[in-house]
Amino acid sequence: MTQVRIDATHQKALGRLGIETVSDLLYHLPTRYEDVSAVQSVGSLTVGEDASVYGVVGGLKTRKAWKSRKPIAEGWVEDGTARMKIMWFNQPYMAKMLTDGAYVKLAGKVSGSAEKPYLANPEIETLKNLPIDRHDSIFRDTGDSTETLYPVYRETKGVTSKWFFHTVQKCFASGVLDNLIDPIPKNIRKTYNLPDLSTALIWIHTPKKTEHAESARKRFAFEEVFYIQLKKAQERAEVSAATSYRFNTDSEHIRTFVDRFPFTLTSAQQNAIKDILTDFGTTRPMSRLLEGDVGSGKTAVAATTAYAVATSRPPEGTKGNEHSTSAKNIAFGNLQVAYMAPTEILAKQHFESFIEYFKHLPIQIGLITGSGCMKFPSKVSPDKPTKLSKAQLLRWVKNGEIPILIGTHALMYKSVEFKHLAYVIIDEQHRFGTSQRRALAKKDVRLPHLLSMTATPIPRTLALTVYGDLDITLLDEMPRGRKPIITKIVVPTKTKEVYEHVRSELATGRQAYVICPRIDEPDPEKETALRLKSVKAEAVRLKKDVFPDAHIAILHSKMTPKEKEEVMQDFLDHRIDILVATSVVEVGVNVPNATNIIIEGAERFGLSQLHQLRGRVIRSEHQAYCFAVTSKDSQGRGGKTLERLKALTTAKNGFELAEFDLALRGSGELYGGKQWGLTDLGMEAIKNIKMVEAARKEASALVATDPTLKKHPLIATKIAALGETLHME
Ligand code: ADP
Ligand code: MG
Repeated sequence: MTQVRIDATHQKALGRLGIETVSDLLYHLPTRYEDVSAVQSVGSLTVGEDASVYGVVGGLKTRKAWKSRKPIAEGWVEDGTARMKIMWFNQPYMAKMLTDGAYVKLAGKVSGSAEKPYLANPEIETLKNLPIDRHDSIFRDTGDSTETLYPVYRETKGVTSKWFFHTVQKCFASGVLDNLIDPIPKNIRKTYNLPDLSTALIWIHTPKKTEHAESARKRFAFEEVFYIQLKKAQERAEVSAATSYRFNTDSEHIRTFVDRFPFTLTSAQQNAIKDILTDFGTTRPMSRLLEGDVGSGKTAVAATTAYAVATSRPPEGTKGNEHSTSAKNIAFGNLQVAYMAPTEILAKQHFESFIEYFKHLPIQIGLITGSGCMKFPSKVSPDKPTKLSKAQLLRWVKNGEIPILIGTHALMYKSVEFKHLAYVIIDEQHRFGTSQRRALAKKDVRLPHLLSMTATPIPRTLALTVYGDLDITLLDEMPRGRKPIITKIVVPTKTKEVYEHVRSELATGRQAYVICPRIDEPDPEKETALRLKSVKAEAVRLKKDVFPDAHIAILHSKMTPKEKEEVMQDFLDHRIDILVATSVVEVGVNVPNATNIIIEGAERFGLSQLHQLRGRVIRSEHQAYCFAVTSKDSQGRGGKTLERLKALTTAKNGFELAEFDLALRGSGELYGGKQWGLTDLGMEAIKNIKMVEAARKEASALVATDPTLKKHPLIATKIAALGETLHME
């Protein structure tokens, strides 16, 4: 096998894309293909034709039409065969969106006369470089195919799609495909009609026709989902093999707790509680995901089931001994609950809600965070919580005196030991795996039951994949009597009314969020006329021009956790009126007095992300408002944007929006596939329920016959690597 040499400059550039080995390079798949056979040369264009050309633009300027005085942007495009004039009427900013010398793809109608033709109002796409031209030697042999597909890769400074294309060809020529072993078992490939690895690599990098590219993409998409499903199947098998605490709870006992609530449980909440209590009645450790929109009442489910645990006795003597609960059983040494929240503020909020739920009972509740510990009730004033030392709290957790411990990641400290940890509840942490669960239980041979809660609505296929090891319960019903949020889609020229409204809300004592798509890093759209608002600049502008009397603060991911907590606390205590933030406020924090949210650059966010964001303001009896401001105008491409955003006002719930998102975009980049450890290709697979189900079925079957994947070492290696990314940092 001959070597393919890559010089240091290119190596460095590849490093930026995470490519270090030949395998990385071969698995750096094209994101799409351009069919360059449809592209015309500028020299061949005739008046009246709808044209699509590649070229370089120049001579860009804006002027006024001499009769109508209407603004016109103009310039020319050149592709080596000819140069043609371009004109944009009534879109003077077009000249500013481009720079002379830029590579572009243009699509528009050839207008004017044969002597003076011009391309009228073309749509532009700027390119990093021009595609391999159709006469390129590699594309000469296309057989009977009429297509000329040119792969487009994710690029970085110094490595272009063209470079990738040629380097991959060199790798192929050097024989890398000769001894390739396919990690996907042959029978599975056959069942689902998937090409083998070397064929798929050739097809995906150099397709002779679209079907080949599609077939290869299908294979790699399957492969990605298959590995994740295998990992999940292994975790599931591991959990099933373990035992947990088993206890039965009678419904009368639960009723005494629930009857005190100032509301009636929704039937979705009742079903969720029933599911969980049924799981507690077996020794098989529960692994359950509770998925429900913000405000659907997950905390009440958590509290009720925690109550069942904290009033149950551990088995005496023999393992797995069955015990039942009753009100009399509230005593020292009962089963214990750990409830983990992603931030300190949320942990405190859960602590406070739990105090409300439990204050009539002799059940102690502890709180542990990075900045200190508390417990309820205080000995001195039994209706209040009190501060205490970590050592003291942990002693009482260890001897079983405190049955419910709420906290942040501080719960994972080595020093935190429970006497009988039977139940772990976690909030908004997708990456809480079996190893974390074991770590919490320390030396206890029993694995605690797990309830993972999330308000992040995701499509069913994605849930089946990333939560493949969990049973899913949906809270798909909102408590009755809630005022639905009023959502308005706003074009940039109409923000005045929005500010008027927010001003009147602030005057009545409410608070507001303003969300911007970026902090202050370079604007990716700087070269275009459409500027993206930044948190820092917008906060200054709002203070100066719009809300001079308001207390305005900012919140973004570049701040330290401590700074963020402080700002959130100030907002919660109403020392801040308007919080200008990036989407970091997406998860969880409850500020009931904040009833307005303005989302700038709304088209930048996925629908379900927008839904999450507006969830921040539906937390009280006050009417809530969401203003999604789009920076695109309502014509042209922006028209589609508005269509998409309208779904926010029509969709029934977060799940529906998540499905919409997937159908409309599905690209990992925008949807946030990275957050789930999926590539863009993996996200494509998620669109296909059949494929996800097939991968799931095959993964379970494989793990059933070969639990440790001893007979499939190649897969085992891939899965081990997945473990790195699928676990909590
Ligand atoms: P989530 O965690 O799902 O976002 P919470 O548990 O914080 O929601 O509940 C939001 C609010 O709704 C709380 O104030 C809670 O007391 C209230 N709530 C919960 N369940 C119901 C219900 N069935 N009917 C009316 N209000 C409810
Ligand atoms: Mg909650």
